[in-house]
Amino acid sequence: MIKEQAILEYLDPKYLYVPVKFNDYKLNTNIYKLEKVKNNTNINYFPISGKIIKTIYLIDTKNQKQLYLVVLNNYKEIIKYQKKYELSTTKLKYLIINAYDLEPFITNSSTLIKNYAQELLETIDYIMEKNNIKQSYIMLKDKDKKYINNYIGTYPNIKLTTLTYKNSISIKDIYNTYLELKYKKPIITKIINIITPKHNLNIKVKLGTLLKDLLIKFDIYKDIDQNYLLIINSCINGISFKTDNIIITEDINNIIFIKNDFEKVSKCIKCGKCHEICPIGLIPLYYIKYINNLKKLKQLSINKCIECGLCSFVCPSKIELLEHIKIAKERVKNEL
Ligand code: SF4
Ligand code: SF4
Repeated sequence: MIKEQAILEYLDPKYLYVPVKFNDYKLNTNIYKLEKVKNNTNINYFPISGKIIKTIYLIDTKNQKQLYLVVLNNYKEIIKYQKKYELSTTKLKYLIINAYDLEPFITNSSTLIKNYAQELLETIDYIMEKNNIKQSYIMLKDKDKKYINNYIGTYPNIKLTTLTYKNSISIKDIYNTYLELKYKKPIITKIINIITPKHNLNIKVKLGTLLKDLLIKFDIYKDIDQNYLLIINSCINGISFKTDNIIITEDINNIIFIKNDFEKVSKCIKCGKCHEICPIGLIPLYYIKYINNLKKLKQLSINKCIECGLCSFVCPSKIELLEHIKIAKERVKNEL
């Protein structure tokens, strides 16, 4: 896999898709960048200026049908925004920031640290000063310390740690706060991590971008074919999708393509670790073996699987058990 930790950009899509609870706009209405979206769900402000040309239903990140306004970009950066941005206050004694990429290929946090170490530290320091917080900790992997070590000396009250704590805030939120403080405007872009067998790209996009447009723009289809599963956010507990007509909203951080290869089961070394760790006492391996045998899947109580992902996590052969289990469960549910 190629690691590319520079941040690429795709900020001028021709169309943008803005989710709404119901449509309160007439077709051909002109809207302006940073104008508040009426009846918004996941995107609060229009990220571009343009014309609403139609509405469309697509699947959202929860696999639910969602209504979108389709905006044709006029590429005029006319801004309509009046609200003053203010830093929200907190009563925390310590600030614990999570910059730890939990899964091996995901690079969101380390990319932010690598590209914005100084800005992130400044923002943390500012939040601490405004809220009278005496100490902060940044949780990160050892390998990422080198990006921040050059600057950390100036901030004696910010410490680095490889320990992990609950109740932390993500480094992505610190980065968003940095942008809001700098530009005094709401967030209308985000950095997403696209992982294919050959590439690991971090791309800054406008919220509301169609994933398919992004994949075409960066020629990502050449890395994948119809045998790949598209997974949003996490291999361990993310959701897999059968479509790339997905809109980038604030809750999408990672797009992961993995091979939908049921033959992988042949790599099983029969160590039994997946069975040992399963909190329900299931035998995850069998769900792959019998993926096309609905009767057997039912006998093996596949419906009891709580999709915790522990079996995938411990498998020494790196078999994506949970992904296969999700598909098998879906088959049983729909009796395909
Ligand atoms: S994902 Fe399902 S089968 Fe795997 S460990 Fe969790 S409950 Fe067991
Ligand atoms: S943990 Fe992986 S290698 Fe071990 S029995 Fe389960 S599927 Fe096979």
